[in-house]
Amino acid sequence: MSVMCNRCVLPAAPPDIILNADGMCNICENYDREERAAPKGERGLLETDFLKILDKYRGKHEYDCLCMLSGGKDSTAALYYVKERYKLKPLVFTFNHGFVPDEHIESARKTVDKLGVDFIYFQTTFMKDMFRKIVATKSKVVICPVCSLWYMLKTYEIAAMFDVPIIISGWTKGQTSGGTRSVLSKCACDQNPEEFKSMSAATKEFMDNHVRTDPKYADFPRTMDDVLSTAKKKYNSKAIVLSPHWFVPGGPEEYVPIIKEKLGWDYPVRSYPKKSTNCDLNFLATKLAIQNYGYSVYHIEMSNMVRMGIVSREEALDLLAGEINQEILDGIHEKLGTVADQP
Ligand SMILES: [Zn+2]
Repeated sequence: MSVMCNRCVLPAAPPDIILNADGMCNICENYDREERAAPKGERGLLETDFLKILDKYRGKHEYDCLCMLSGGKDSTAALYYVKERYKLKPLVFTFNHGFVPDEHIESARKTVDKLGVDFIYFQTTFMKDMFRKIVATKSKVVICPVCSLWYMLKTYEIAAMFDVPIIISGWTKGQTSGGTRSVLSKCACDQNPEEFKSMSAATKEFMDNHVRTDPKYADFPRTMDDVLSTAKKKYNSKAIVLSPHWFVPGGPEEYVPIIKEKLGWDYPVRSYPKKSTNCDLNFLATKLAIQNYGYSVYHIEMSNMVRMGIVSREEALDLLAGEINQEILDGIHEKLGTVADQP
C-alpha cells in the first residue's frame, strides 16, 4: 500500500499523483493555488447562477430538462429539486446496461410515480461485449469512464430526440473538476484533470486496440470531447449538462432526509462506496482500478469533497473502506463469461 496524501484520500501514484515534502499531493496543491487565484465572489457556484440558467429555458420546450435518474440519492434529489424546488417540467431517463440491480430500477420507478413525471426506461445488451472485452483483455482501462462515454452520448441522443435544452445529472460537488465555475463553460464530465490522466490514456489505448477494430463499436467515442462533438454533429444537440448539487448549499446530509420524507427513498441494501447507489459492475471496476492505479474514481470524487470541506477526511476514508462483495464479483464474471484473476 503506497503512502496517502495527508489532506485528501489519494495515494502517491507517480507520475500523476506525487506527494510533496509535507506529505500533501500535487492535486491538493493545485486546488489551493486555484482557490487563491480566483477573484473574490467567484469561488464556487451560487443557486442564483442556476436559477438564471433555468429561467432562460423555462417553458420554451415540451420538457424543460432531461433528468438522468439512477435511483440513488444524488440523482433522486436532483430530480426532486428540479420538480419541486424549481418547478420545471422534467423528462426522466433511466438506463440499464444489464448490470443495474433491480432495487435501483424499482427505486427510480417509485420516485417517478410519486412525482408524476414522464419517464423513459432504456434497457440494452449493447455494452455487454464491451465490458467482456475490458475484463477478458485484462486492460487497465477503468469500466466507469468508458461506460460514461456511452451513456452520456445516449443521453444527448434522447435529449435531442425530445428537443430538451438542459440535461440534469445528480453529480455531486465532488464529481466536477473541483466544483469550480468552469463547469458553466465546459462539460462537467471532463475526464482531463491530472488525477484522471493515466485512466484516460488507458481508455484511449483500449478504444484504439480493442474497440474501434470491432465493427459493432466502430463509432464508439474515445473521449468525452468525442461525445460532445458527436452530440453536436450527429444529433444537433445544444443541451447543457448541469447538476443542482453544484449550486445548492450543503450535501447529502441536507437532501437525504428530504427525499426519505417526501419520496420514501432509502439506501440500497448493498453498495460501494458505502451509502451509494451504483451498478454491480462498479464493484469490479473499483477492485480493478485499485489494483491497477492504487485508487478508483470514488477516491477522486471523495478527495474533491474533502478539499471542498463537504466531508471530512475520516468520513471519506470510512465510506471508501466498504467491502467489495465476492458474490457480486462472481456474478459479474458469470454474466460476462470471464474468469476472475487468482488473488
Ligand atoms: Zn491530496
